[in-house]
Amino acid sequence: TQAALVASEKLASLGQLAAGMAHEINNPIAFVTNNLAVLRRDLGEIVTLVEKYEEARAYLSGAPQELMEELTQIESDCDFAWLRQHLPQLLQSSTEGLTRVRDIIKNLRDFARLDQAAQDDVALIHAVTTTLEVLKHDIEKQHIGIKTEMQTVPPVPGRGDKINQVIYNVLLNAIQASPEGSSILIRMLPVDNAVRIEVEDSGCGMDQETLGRVFEPFFTTKPVGTGTGLGMSVSYGIVRDHGGIMSVESQLNCGTKVTIDLPLARSATSEHEQLE
Ligand code: ADP
Repeated sequence: TQAALVASEKLASLGQLAAGMAHEINNPIAFVTNNLAVLRRDLGEIVTLVEKYEEARAYLSGAPQELMEELTQIESDCDFAWLRQHLPQLLQSSTEGLTRVRDIIKNLRDFARLDQAAQDDVALIHAVTTTLEVLKHDIEKQHIGIKTEMQTVPPVPGRGDKINQVIYNVLLNAIQASPEGSSILIRMLPVDNAVRIEVEDSGCGMDQETLGRVFEPFFTTKPVGTGTGLGMSVSYGIVRDHGGIMSVESQLNCGTKVTIDLPLARSATSEHEQLE
């Protein structure tokens, strides 16, 4: 439909923006990180020098008055105590701040595109069962019934860790949307040159506005501190980077169905289309 097309164009340009920003920010960050490392090393030497000076200073107590006054002046100008106490701490917290920025950039790049790492053959049924195991506690706490209709499917080429992340995000959303005692249905079936995974819940569903924004980074309807609004957008990016398609159907107060198609082989053009 028209709305879906507009949404995917918007996501594609957000992805490009994110990739561009990540790239642009990474260079100065690397530069500042290197400078900080050099400063940290030099600072170690300066601190040692200050300590040595203070030791030597003790022997100067008998020196002429004039020299002593001059030394006292230099010391207060340089603020040796501050230098020794606060500078290492400032450098440390700057380095930590930089690490946080690098983490944010990494997340942006995950949304923007998959790092070109080695691809494996991913066994999707295994991915689903291990993810269910990880979410066992949440499933039991809410007395959710998990029904599966999984046909035997061939492995798909891709990044196992990333595909697990998608299945985890989608299942967690389904669990969070589900009322106590309801069921979630997981289907797996072969379709044209792809494997389809469907996760269907009979939970709270979404209104039109939410459905239209579901793949938008940082969009969430969950209370502050619960949702980050990154689960669906990051999953969308991962599926797209595998040459696949992720879509959502939802009816308010009835439930939601998420469909993911992961291709069995990458066509020569799909690599190119990712850039669109
Ligand atoms: P988060 O879960 O952190 O809010 P997501 O990107 O995973 O972020 O989801 C964005 C929003 O999409 C959710 O806040 C919720 O409103 C909606 N949503 C996602 N999955 C479902 C679902 N299965 N049922 C109802 N709403 C959903």
